[in-house]
Amino acid sequence: MDLIRGAGDLRGRTDAAREAGGSVGLVPTMGALHGGHRSLIERARREHSTVVVSIFVNPRQFADPADLEAYPRDERRDLEACEELGVDLVWAPSTEQMFPPGVDLPAPSPGPVGRRYEGESRPGHFEGVLSVVHRLFAVTGRCAAYFGEKDAQQLFLVRRMVELEDLPVEVVACPTIREPDGLAMSSRNERLSGDEREQAGCLFLALGEAAGLARVGERDPRVLVAAMAREIGATPLARLDYAAVVDDRTFEPTDRLGPGVAARALVAARFPSARLIDNLRLPPPT
Ligand code: AMP
Repeated sequence: MDLIRGAGDLRGRTDAAREAGGSVGLVPTMGALHGGHRSLIERARREHSTVVVSIFVNPRQFADPADLEAYPRDERRDLEACEELGVDLVWAPSTEQMFPPGVDLPAPSPGPVGRRYEGESRPGHFEGVLSVVHRLFAVTGRCAAYFGEKDAQQLFLVRRMVELEDLPVEVVACPTIREPDGLAMSSRNERLSGDEREQAGCLFLALGEAAGLARVGERDPRVLVAAMAREIGATPLARLDYAAVVDDRTFEPTDRLGPGVAARALVAARFPSARLIDNLRLPPPT
């Protein structure tokens, strides 16, 4: 496994891999690798001859400087994990390599969907996400890029950017990996106190309630949203940020559930030490 810092060095290696007849799987991360990241890397490993993991804590996607400051970083541990998983190339650039000063890199617009939910709570977040993902794709070149459903709104916006700009990237969606109590794995979970961690399962419980209602034929998304808000509202250390049901194909709020509607429930909650998000595809009525 090789650790690469320079953008040109990475492109040289991915070009060589493609010229030799191979294919490239890219897993973009912000480091502090956990089981969720591992599942993306394992899938890329199975599907491509060259696996690239990028590690970059992107300052442009943090609305809150304190959140950026507190974001966990452990490059040595991340490199060990990548080595163990059979990664070929780790790209861990400096901010100057990622965003060269004095250069106007493309700044794809997330549009109205980028201003809702995560975009509303974290202004500028998706502008930052799309600018770094666009740059990652430009440097890597033709590849398949692996993203987690955990960040469903991000996945939606990245897919749309790739479609709109006809980028040579196949976006691969990977299921959310969870702890035994249902809590979605996240680098932010490390920040939770013991009590917070115990109560953090409320996000998955809320999503489970919404899924249960959809399964028994509830068609009004407001009933699902109210149930999710109640579950999180009843958790002493959690403060609800949003609960919503969206049409999975447009990420617009949906006003009716039922056959033919692909719906997804979303929740975000603030704990004293970290803000957590989660989502779940809603099942059709049985
Ligand atoms: P991050 O390092 O948080 O930016 O995440 C890097 C990638 O890993 C993103 O595509 C995330 O959606 C994905 N990811 C994060 N947590 C999970 C999880 N629990 N299960 C699956 N994918 C995840």
